[in-house]
Amino acid sequence: MKELRARRVGINDSFWSPRLEVNAEKAIFHQWRQLEATLCIDNFRIAAGEKNGFREGFFFSDSDAYKWLDAASRIYALQADPELASLMDSLIALLGRAQMEDGYLFTFNQIHFPNQRWINLQIEHELYCHGHFIEAGVSHYEATGRRDLLDLCLKSADLLVHDFLNASNDKTCGHEEIEIALIRLYRVTDKEEYLALARQFVERRGRIPFFPLHFWRQFRRYHERKLFVKEQRTSYIAEHPEYASFHLPGDNYTRQVRFSRARRYFNEFLGFYAQQHAPIRRQTAPVGHSVRFGYLETALAMILRERPEGALLSTLEQAWARMVTRRMYITGGLGAAPEIEGFGGDYDLDPEYAYAETCASIASLLWNWEMAMITKKAQYSDLFEWQLYNATNVGMGSHGDTYLYNNPLSVQQGVTRKEWYVVPCCPSNLSRTFADLGKYIYSFDEENLWIHQFVRSETTIQMGVPVKIQIESEFPWNGKVKIYIKPENRKEFKIHIRIPSWNLSNQPEEQTTASGYDPRQAKYETINGTYSPEGEYLEFNFDMSIRLRRAHPKVNGHAGKTALTRGPLVYGLESVDNADVNIFTAQLDPSSLRDEFVPDLLSGCVIIHGKTTDNKPLKFIPYFLWANRGASQMTVWVNVAS
Ligand SMILES: [Zn+2]
Repeated sequence: MKELRARRVGINDSFWSPRLEVNAEKAIFHQWRQLEATLCIDNFRIAAGEKNGFREGFFFSDSDAYKWLDAASRIYALQADPELASLMDSLIALLGRAQMEDGYLFTFNQIHFPNQRWINLQIEHELYCHGHFIEAGVSHYEATGRRDLLDLCLKSADLLVHDFLNASNDKTCGHEEIEIALIRLYRVTDKEEYLALARQFVERRGRIPFFPLHFWRQFRRYHERKLFVKEQRTSYIAEHPEYASFHLPGDNYTRQVRFSRARRYFNEFLGFYAQQHAPIRRQTAPVGHSVRFGYLETALAMILRERPEGALLSTLEQAWARMVTRRMYITGGLGAAPEIEGFGGDYDLDPEYAYAETCASIASLLWNWEMAMITKKAQYSDLFEWQLYNATNVGMGSHGDTYLYNNPLSVQQGVTRKEWYVVPCCPSNLSRTFADLGKYIYSFDEENLWIHQFVRSETTIQMGVPVKIQIESEFPWNGKVKIYIKPENRKEFKIHIRIPSWNLSNQPEEQTTASGYDPRQAKYETINGTYSPEGEYLEFNFDMSIRLRRAHPKVNGHAGKTALTRGPLVYGLESVDNADVNIFTAQLDPSSLRDEFVPDLLSGCVIIHGKTTDNKPLKFIPYFLWANRGASQMTVWVNVAS
C-alpha cells in the first residue's frame, strides 16, 4: 500500500479548510512569538555564543523549536509563504551555529554542563530532542528539496550511529521519538544504519538489568543537576536583578489523585512509565506515559512496514485492542492517570481526572495510520477519524492562538484554553498534524484504492494509469458522500471505502468497550469495477443519527451515564449554553433529542437539543468546540432517564 504526500492532495472542505487556514496563517506565527517570548529560541543564541543570558525552560525545551520547524515545513509544503520561509531560514542558520562540530545539539548540556553528554538517557530526553531535530530536517527537506537543515541533521544522526549503534541495553531514551525520526531519515536517505539504530533502540527496551537501580542512579543525578541549575539561576539573578521579573507561563491545571507522587515513583522505578518494564514483544497492554507509548507503537509499526514480522504485529494488535476496549475515553483520549500523564488500569477512566494529553491522541493517529497501511483493516482509519475529530481537534482553539494540554471529559473548574504552557509540546504537534491531513485520506497500489477519510478533496494517483479522484462531503455534519473516479484510460480496480463504525448498520448488540465506541465495527466495502475516462460517481449516505453511548458498568466515575455522539463527533454540555441547569445532575429525556445546524455558533456547527425530565432545555455542542467562550464547566457524560 502506498501513501501520498499531503501536498499532492488538494483539500477544499467546508470544515477543514478554515481550520487549515487558521493553522497556516495564525497558529504557526503565534507559536513562533511564544517561543521567542519564553526564550526557547534564545537558548540556541546562548549556546551559539551570540547572546548573554540564562538558559530557560525544561531540559527538553529545544524540542519545541524543532517541532515548530517541523510544523512550519509541513505548512510551507502546502503553501510557500515568504514570511514563514524567512523565520524558518533564520532558525535553521541559528541551529547551524549552535550545533557542536560533531553534530551534538542539546542546549541544556551545552550551556549548563558543557563536558557532559548522554549521561541521563532515561530522564533528560536528550535523544528525544535529537529526534525532533532530525524530524524537522526530514520535513524541511521534503517540503523544500533543500539540504541545509537536513545536512545538519545528518551530522547529528551520524553522531548517534557512532555513539549508539551496537551499544549496551541501557543506551535507549526514556522518551521515545528518536526511533520515528531515524526511520523517517532512513526513508529519505536509504542509509541502513539509521533503520538499524532505530531497531536497536526499540529492541533494548525492557532489557536494562536491575532497572530500578539503574533508574535510581539517573534519578539522583537528575536531581543533583537540577539543583545545580537552580543555584546558577540564583547567582545569575544576583548579578542581573532586572531578570528576576521574568517568569515562564504556568503549568496546565490537572486534578490530581491521592498519593500521586508515590504512584508516579512506583510506575517510574518499575519501568512501566517509559515502557521499560518488558521487552517489546511482551508489551501487549498500553502502559505508562501515553505519548511515549504512542511514539513507541508508531516506531514499531514503521519498522514493520520496512521489515514485516508476525510476532511483533500480533503484539501491536493486542496492545491496540486492549487500549480501545478498556483504556480509552469515549473521545479517543488516552491517559487516565494524571500523575504519570499516562494509562491507568482497565476501566480506569474517570472523566474528571482524565489527562488525555493532546499529544497522546496525535501519537495514536500516527500509530493508527501505520497500522492501516500494514494490515488493511478499516478499524485503524476509523479510530484515526474519531481521535482526529475529538481528542485531537479539541486541543486547538477556534482562532489558533489558544490551546488545551490535558483534555478531561468533565470539568467543574480550572481547565481553560491558554496561549502557552511551560511545557508547550502540544501546539506545534497539532500544527504539524493538521498540515499533514491530506496524507491520511487515500492510499493505493496498482489494483486497489482505499478511501480512509471523507474530507472534501481531490488528487491524482498513479495506478498504472493516472486516476483522478474527488471526494465531495460535508463531514462531520452530513453523512452524504460522493466519490468521483476518472482514470486516464480504461482501468479495472477495486475501491475499498471505509464504512464507519458509527454507521447504524454496524452497531454491535452488546457493550464491547469501556467507552461505548468500538472502531472494530468499521469495515471496508469493496467495489470491484472497470472505470472509464468518462468518469463515474459512487454515492454513500452514512447514518449520522444521534446515538446514545453508555459507559461500561465497570468504569469509575460515570458508570450508568451516557454520552451523545453524532457521526464521528462526541457531544457535551457546556455551562455557557445551559445556564439554567446543573449540567452534572440534569436528567436527560432521551425522547426529546433533535439536531440543528446553527451557522453562527462557533463558526457553524450541528448542535443537539434535548430536554430534562422536568422540561428544561439542554443544548449539546461538539466536544472539540468547548472552552472557546471563556471559563466554563463541561461534561460529556450525562444522566439519562430510563
Ligand atoms: Zn503535548
